[in-house]
Amino acid sequence: MSSSKNICPLCGGLKKNGTTTFTADMEDTLVVIRNVPATLCSLCGNEWLSDEVAANVERIVEEAKSIHRQVEVTRYRKVA
Ligand SMILES: [Zn+2]
Repeated sequence: MSSSKNICPLCGGLKKNGTTTFTADMEDTLVVIRNVPATLCSLCGNEWLSDEVAANVERIVEEAKSIHRQVEVTRYRKVA
């Protein structure tokens, strides 16, 4: 366990749990995913996604691309 785990490496501020909106702007598809669980810096606002969340976000983006949506606005959910 690292004691610097809850400290922002960019500004030294305190990280806190929250949610963010993830946006992926690709050539043919714009994907907006709301309510993504993230760790946020309370000072500079930088965001971190856990590996699990990032993998899920990627799957949601792939899904939106595969159905050829131009704009997909969705809420974060677990994708099996
Ligand atoms: Zn920070």
